[in-house]
Amino acid sequence: LQFERVPMFEDDGKYRGMLFLLQDVTEIRRLETMRSQFVANVSHELKTPIAAVKGFAETLLSGGVEDKETERSFLQIIYDEGDRLNRLIGDILELSKIESKLVPLEYSPVQLKELIDSLYEVLLPVASRKSIMISNNVPEHLFIEADEDRLRQVFMNLLSNAISYTLEGGRVKVEAEIVDSGEEQEDERVRISISDTGIGIPKKDLPRIFERFYRVDKARSRSSGGTGLGLSIVKHLVDLHHGMIAVESRVGEGTTFFIELPITQNLA
Ligand code: ADP
Repeated sequence: LQFERVPMFEDDGKYRGMLFLLQDVTEIRRLETMRSQFVANVSHELKTPIAAVKGFAETLLSGGVEDKETERSFLQIIYDEGDRLNRLIGDILELSKIESKLVPLEYSPVQLKELIDSLYEVLLPVASRKSIMISNNVPEHLFIEADEDRLRQVFMNLLSNAISYTLEGGRVKVEAEIVDSGEEQEDERVRISISDTGIGIPKKDLPRIFERFYRVDKARSRSSGGTGLGLSIVKHLVDLHHGMIAVESRVGEGTTFFIELPITQNLA
């Protein structure tokens, strides 16, 4: 609790008494701590690739590398780390835009099956390289009122994770059904599941995976090009659509993300 004393005066300047203010600052403190922790995390995340770029560039500049192959591999690292910085900054800006609600959602009817198909088109080369079978079992008649670009971002993040964290020969599938809330038709919701037969997430990590920069295995996330921000962006976007997200997983068996979204946004 924060305590403050404010003297009170009449219009003519006569002293009237003292006002005592007690304010609960727990929430403000919590937000402050979160913000400074985020800044610390961001700095740390940015410093790692910058250190790599500088280190390898310095070695090349000093002329210490003689054979062409090593030189090329150092240049490749510099290029990849530059790429990583780009993705990190992109995700950080995206997250702060979403959080500050600077970009309002633009709702339109979206055909879910088609949206998933268009993402699969992009992801097919990556999936084929790992012989991962991808399938889309979403019924054609499912339309939901959503911001199409944002919804695409949600599924792109979940599907690319599903492919990244699944070993050769695995499977990734998307299913959807209408859930009967038993109430008016306007309250109808759709439940979508994105499941993989991948490495799974340990039980102790499950409650934390939607946190910014949280990764189960940092090395694996880095090597697959992850920023650790994907799922927190997903969670924010689902919240903005008045939806819910949940996850079930078993190590060595696979992971399923469930998303529930309203079919209409009742904009009246
Ligand atoms: P990243 O960029 O590291 O993938 P995300 O925020 O998208 O970050 O995910 C956070 C962490 O959750 C990942 O680092 C990974 O450990 C875990 N994760 C996410 N999706 C899956 C999945 N489908 N299977 C296994 N682990 C996953």
